[in-house]
Order: sequence, then structure tokens, then C-alpha cells
Amino acid sequence: MDAETATLPRDARHRVERSKARARYDRDSVHAILDAGMIAHVAFCVAGQPFVIPMLYARDGETIVLHGSIASRLMGELADGVPACLGVTHVDGLVLARSHFDHSMNYRSVVVFGRARAVVDEAEKALALSRFVDAMIPGRAAESRAADRTELAATHVLRLAIEDASAKVRSGGAKDNPADLALPHWAGVVPMRTRYAAPQPEPELVDAALPASVRQLLAANEASA
Ligand SMILES: Cc1cc2nc3c(=O)[nH]c(=O)nc-3n(C[C@H](O)[C@H](O)[C@H](O)COP(=O)(O)OP(=O)(O)OC[C@H]3O[C@@H](n4cnc5c(N)ncnc54)[C@H](O)[C@@H]3O)c2cc1C
Repeated sequence: MDAETATLPRDARHRVERSKARARYDRDSVHAILDAGMIAHVAFCVAGQPFVIPMLYARDGETIVLHGSIASRLMGELADGVPACLGVTHVDGLVLARSHFDHSMNYRSVVVFGRARAVVDEAEKALALSRFVDAMIPGRAAESRAADRTELAATHVLRLAIEDASAKVRSGGAKDNPADLALPHWAGVVPMRTRYAAPQPEPELVDAALPASVRQLLAANEASA
């Protein structure tokens, strides 16, 4: 058994059961996978009905910041502190095996458990919204207008404390059954990356020059090509 898994009680809700060697529970592994993403699937139950809602998120220390319309019934339920579970996944490659059974994916994923609380302080809400913009593209918050009081009043900002979290990482090639190695089928990994394409400016820009945040994003994009 993996040493990290062995230290978790058998009934821990975040204890990975299968492929335990792929499990990570340390803060750095969990944070790195969260910080590499933008979209989380947030799950919670209301009156026995499960919901899974895809949302933008930003990690801030040991909390995850979420936001949404004040008109959203589900955001209101989340803000009331119902138990929630949040998942983030990155697919790094297709793993093609000689057999159907051994096809797989390389991935990094995180599952977080916690409860959200509503942020009510205006300054804290405004800061949280700027974090979303910077989480999407670093440096962008300073290049655009901050939320005004009306916009803040129309927005729920929630902080979900990370109570328990697990990460799971698969890397490497196909794990074919030795009996299949002599089959004539191709096997291997097809790596997968998210790429940005050329920016499409809005028609009525006061200043059409690309801002630094976008230039840096595109430069990083090129460097990783
Ligand atoms: C892109 C992708 C595709 C996948 N496709 C499949 C598939 O088709 N079929 C399949 O059976 N499995 C698939 N998995 C793996 C799946 O996510 C579970 O890990 C798997 O079902 C085994 O769960 P378990 O029995 O170990 O844990 P469970 O008993 O299901 O869960 C116990 C706890 O383990 C943790 N945990 C479980 N899985 C993950 C994870 N991926 N990341 C972080 N924490 C986790 C959670 O905290 C969870 O509460 C896929 C994973 C990814 C990322």
C-alpha cells in the first residue's frame, strides 16, 4: 500500500481506493493541480437531489473562491454552507494500449471536500473578483476596471475552505497485459495540451495594442509549443 494512503483512516472520505500509488494528499500536490486549472465541477445536494455545476474558481491559500449571480438559487444553497465536493481534472494524454481493456488517460486530478461561506465585506468581495481575473490570465486585473458597488451587490462571492483533499496523477505508457505484447496493434501515448490561438480584438477599442497580460500568455504559449 502507498505510504500516504496507509496513514489515512479506512473510512476517510478522501482516501483513494484504487491505484493507490497514484494518490497524493500533500498540500503542494493538491495546490499545484488546483492552480493549473480554471474550471471546477462543484457538487452538492439540495433536498436529496445531487447537482454538479461547472464554475470558475481561484485558490487563495487553503480556500477556494467561487462566484456567481445573486439570483442563482444554487449559489444561495452553497452559500448556506451545505457540504460540497469539488473536482478539477487535467488530461495530459491519451494512453492507447493493445487491448481495449488497457486503454487509459494520463491525468492530474483533485477532489476537494469543504463547505462554502458567503463573503459579505465589499472590499474582500472586490479583491476576490480581481483574483478570478488574474487566475484566468495573470496581470489582467490591473488592466481592467474593478467591480463597482452595483456589480458587487449582484454577485455572490463564496470561500470554500479545503477540509480534505486528494490528488491523483497518472503518467507514463500503456500497462498492457504481457500476453498482449506480441499483438500487431500500435500502442503508445498521444500527449494532449491546451493551446491559445490568435487574439480576436473587439471592434471599438480605444487602444488596440495587445496588453502585457495577453502578450505574456502568448509568449508562454509559444515557448511550450
Ligand atoms: C480523466 C479521467 C478519466 C477517468 N476515467 C475513469 C473511468 O472511465 N472509469 C473509472 O473507473 N475511473 C476513471 N478515472 C479514475 C476515477 O477518477 C477514480 O479514481 C476511480 O474510479 C477509482 O476511484 P477509487 O475507487 O479509488 O475511489 P472512490 O472510492 O471512488 O473515491 C474515494 C475517494 O478517492 C478520491 N479520489 C478518487 N478518484 C480521484 C481522482 N481521480 N482524483 C482525486 N481524488 C480521487 C476522492 O477523494 C474520493 O472521495 C478517471 C480519472 C480521470 C482523471
